[in-house]
Amino acid sequence: MSNSRVSFGSSDFSCGLTLFSTSLPSPPLSPLRQLETFLGNQAESSVWNYCLGIQDLANAPALIDDTIVVAYDTEMWTGDSSRMLEIGLSTFSIRDMRSLINRGVYGKELMKVFRVGFFGHALQNDLRNLRDTLGFDVYGLGTVVKTVDTQHLARDYGVWPQYNNNSIGHERLVGMVGFAYRDAHTACNDIGMSINAGILMALRKPEDDGDVNSSATVQEVIDDVEKESQKYSHSHHGVEAFCLRCGQPGHFREDCNPRKVKVRCAHCVEAGRDRASYSHVSEFCISHAVQQSKERQQQARADKMEDWDSMY
Ligand SMILES: [Zn+2]
Ligand SMILES: [Zn+2]
Repeated sequence: MSNSRVSFGSSDFSCGLTLFSTSLPSPPLSPLRQLETFLGNQAESSVWNYCLGIQDLANAPALIDDTIVVAYDTEMWTGDSSRMLEIGLSTFSIRDMRSLINRGVYGKELMKVFRVGFFGHALQNDLRNLRDTLGFDVYGLGTVVKTVDTQHLARDYGVWPQYNNNSIGHERLVGMVGFAYRDAHTACNDIGMSINAGILMALRKPEDDGDVNSSATVQEVIDDVEKESQKYSHSHHGVEAFCLRCGQPGHFREDCNPRKVKVRCAHCVEAGRDRASYSHVSEFCISHAVQQSKERQQQARADKMEDWDSMY
């Protein structure tokens, strides 16, 4: 490096300025970026196998074991796909997962561990939903080192090799690895099913089943894990019951007492839906929300046409 050192000053005083040319090594990457670069060169299935303790990754930076895997799913309202209804999150530490000695029948013990890599099914849609609705850019955090998508895993593990022509749906994937697609489209259930499908894909070889003598079926194992997780799962956020008629917590619409609580929707009154106007407060007017969605879509289409027109 001495030949690129430029000195200023007289003989009795000098200070140095070191210039790095492009041919010289650039400053070392931070440990996080080193891990990101390393994982960027690994297949998603290899990274997932590592997370589950099924395989090692040669020369992996030590920081990998401090990584938390965040699995998530978003649910958008079918009446207006720009509105998010739910976000489901589940996390585990790679260190905890890898320290399991017995993976259990069909990975049952791995499934139970699930109480920043990112994991999900058709992940790019969920990343976009988070950004477009909440303004939350996952990559903007600067701590994401790898994303793992079960659609890619299905291709890598050979469960669904035709990925490039046709992405596998969640329901079909779950069916192919051997358990029922139940209570779908509630965000946390979908995550649970993605994780379990990911574990089952990774353990497809019989010798990885943990206990080859077990007569339990995949469905029985899943049922057991579900039952057990219900004992421990409770949410710190939100309310358990919420009334879409009067907008109060503590009960559902079916249990709301119209004699006690009078409601009137201003949107329905304005639109001449007199009878409907007595069935909900303005804030929870579905007709109004659907109308707004239609207007937004029309506006988006008009903007697009304008963009096209301005190109000619
Ligand atoms: Zn109510
Ligand atoms: Zn209304």
